[in-house]
Amino acid sequence: MNNRLSTLSKTASVSQIINFSCVDGPGSRLVVFLQGCNYNCKNCHNPHTIDMCDSCGDCIAHCPTQALSMESIDGKDAIRWNSDLCSGCDTCLAVCPKQSTPKTQEYNVTQMLEMIRKQASFISGITISGGEATLQLHFIIALFKAIKSSDDLQHLSCMLDSNGSLNETAWQKLLPYMDGAMIDLKAWQQETHRYITGRDNHRVLRSINLLNLHNKLYEVRLLQIPEVTDFESEIDALAGFLTQLPPSTRIKLNAFQHHGVTGEALAWRVCSEANIERLASQLTERGVKQPILPSVYL
Ligand code: SF4
Ligand code: SF4
Repeated sequence: MNNRLSTLSKTASVSQIINFSCVDGPGSRLVVFLQGCNYNCKNCHNPHTIDMCDSCGDCIAHCPTQALSMESIDGKDAIRWNSDLCSGCDTCLAVCPKQSTPKTQEYNVTQMLEMIRKQASFISGITISGGEATLQLHFIIALFKAIKSSDDLQHLSCMLDSNGSLNETAWQKLLPYMDGAMIDLKAWQQETHRYITGRDNHRVLRSINLLNLHNKLYEVRLLQIPEVTDFESEIDALAGFLTQLPPSTRIKLNAFQHHGVTGEALAWRVCSEANIERLASQLTERGVKQPILPSVYL
């Protein structure tokens, strides 16, 4: 296979596509959510996007509209989801023993480009999100590369929404084709980050610095969870880290809510407007320029 064909045939498991979003990067954007994550955040709003479906078939009999079936692909059983028959009841998500979803779809780069072309005149760019999108890095690189080399698509900016866990070697492969990234910093102290996500944050801090060095850091996001995240108790260290970034880097504050959350995080207190405003003023008092506050608290 030549290089171009091999690029266009790269595939990804996609959990959702949103044609228009104005909160996932600059301007109006088409957002592709990839399935699978290497963190296991207690506060995850889409826990069914963490694990990959292993086609066990347990959910098939529970679907009230017969939208699920098993088919054989290259001699291997694979779950098939018929979106035309699906009513969106989410019973399959509730019964899945892996807390996964059968409602993912495989896209190759050619199919994704076709879909982007239909929206291209209405959007300023595309954002790849997740799950943790970089688990499917080869697809992202191939897609961004194809967009940048297409006469009719190269005006679109290519952004990534990530938990920042990618290593430097992998970032270096992606950087030439990516315009910018939004990175979640989920806690300051290692223990707190590990408690919330299951992993430490060394890579996240390194990713933020690396992206900044290459002028590809668009936004750092802080999710405030009262009494759980440590942004207020670590405010001096956090503000010191954020103020070494250029003032043009957006510092976005998000307020924890219960929507979609399962398990022990349902017992956590939601973050009020007053709580987020207090965090914002603590940051601005220490030199962080105009943190961006949530527009809604739901
Ligand atoms: S959400 Fe799942 S269970 Fe419900 S109709 Fe769709 S495929 Fe079937
Ligand atoms: S979604 Fe879950 S229950 Fe359904 S086939 Fe996949 S792993 Fe099995």
